[in-house]
Amino acid sequence: MAAPRPSNLRLLSRALARRCPNCGAPGIFKSYTELREHCPNCGLRLHRGESDYFIGAYLLNLVAVELLFALLLGVVVIVTYPNTPWTLLQWGGMALIIIGAVICYPITKSLWLAADLMFRPMTEKELDWHREGGSADRELPHL
Ligand SMILES: [Zn+2]
Repeated sequence: MAAPRPSNLRLLSRALARRCPNCGAPGIFKSYTELREHCPNCGLRLHRGESDYFIGAYLLNLVAVELLFALLLGVVVIVTYPNTPWTLLQWGGMALIIIGAVICYPITKSLWLAADLMFRPMTEKELDWHREGGSADRELPHL
């Protein structure tokens, strides 16, 4: 019998903890930014069988860091107006964006996988495909 589908909140919380969104197992990252090919517990291929899968994670990372910067910019301008430190905001903002992009990148990879699992829930048939390693002659079942 198939395991029940995790709730959207559970998928997201597992991803934020850098765990497999599908089963919650730790150890899906090979290094700080690099995902393993498969989840060590459930066997899910972490790129879900698609070569350009993480373009979405790059986009999510960009949006997250820009929103962080916009929030900080708004707070600093409101708190310090009319003596807003524009030079500090310019250089500090640039540093924040660069550092934030590096810090957020691995989390956005697992969040992207969680978002994908929300919109395209895992089926037993697909999970079997992942566990078998998938192949070019046997297409990903959800497509
Ligand atoms: Zn897993």
